[in-house]
Amino acid sequence: MPEQLKLDTAITAVRAAARASRIVQQDLVHALSIDKRDKSPVTVADYAAQAIVCALLKQDFPAIPIVAEEGSAELRRKENSRLLLSVTGHVAGQLGPDTSTDDVLAYIDHGGAKATKKAFWTLDPVDGTKGFLRGGQYAIALALIEKGEVTLGVLGCPNLQINQQTGALFAASRGKPARMYELFNEAGPGKSIGTSSVSSTSQVRFCESVEPGHSNQDVASKIAKILGIKQAPCRIDSQCKYAVVARGDAEVYLRLPVDASYKEKIWDHAAGKIIVESAGGKVTDMHGKPLDFSCGKFLKNNSGIIATSPLIHSAVQAAADKACNR
Ligand code: AMP
Ligand code: MG
Repeated sequence: MPEQLKLDTAITAVRAAARASRIVQQDLVHALSIDKRDKSPVTVADYAAQAIVCALLKQDFPAIPIVAEEGSAELRRKENSRLLLSVTGHVAGQLGPDTSTDDVLAYIDHGGAKATKKAFWTLDPVDGTKGFLRGGQYAIALALIEKGEVTLGVLGCPNLQINQQTGALFAASRGKPARMYELFNEAGPGKSIGTSSVSSTSQVRFCESVEPGHSNQDVASKIAKILGIKQAPCRIDSQCKYAVVARGDAEVYLRLPVDASYKEKIWDHAAGKIIVESAGGKVTDMHGKPLDFSCGKFLKNNSGIIATSPLIHSAVQAAADKACNR
């Protein structure tokens, strides 16, 4: 079954990238982080995770392009040669000791494809870099998009708890229930997950970004007030927010634009969206529109995100309209 093969390879790739990123986070050396032109911190883990996932996907599915977040340009600069060696060490730790710096650069570049109308993978190798750098939550987010629809998604969440273990993996493919596994124990049991059945909006638990620059926390707090939500928001970095909604630990993930012109990127939402929907939830933009993955690397026809358990989506969306005076 080709769909199952794709899911199996995606899970294997995310597990391998997560093992590498966990090692980097455990002995995080801040001096090894550099700034991209947009000033977001890019770490050894970003590059290593992208190289590992791209190498493993390319091996099994050489014809499917990969639209990934990172490029190799900074890593190729002479002043970053120490960084490249460190990245190569981590990639070799997963792919084998013969992995060279040139291999690593080529794997990273394999993720530099453009979104197509047919099938392509999209990857955020370390989603939530800021959370990663503070030792908090982050995710390796991988999805397959076919003809503008997300058909498969895998989220590796190395710091999320499951069965008293640290490290959870979430996987979904079209038409099948979402499942959760132990990320660092391949022999561990997996199980189907479902969104919460809480229907009273006052009982709702909602999550949002830790970073106030990524989501408007003031508008979120207005929405919470309109709904009568009593609990303080749970602030989590990365697509772990989709994961906690998918497994019923929270009912709502709100992402509200701080800057009206900001366009969300596909790799920040594709995996999370299919995992929440396959767990029974509903995901739209803040205006209730379906997310449109058919127009390249941005969700250019959407603004913000509302991901919820199914019973409360319309109430949350109406509250968002009210909070924004629409
Ligand atoms: P989170 O961890 O949920 O705060 O989201 C992390 C993601 O926020 C990163 O992968 C970035 O692509 C994305 N991001 C960066 N700047 C913004 C912004 N101004 N508004 C919304 N998302 C952003
Ligand atoms: Mg991201």
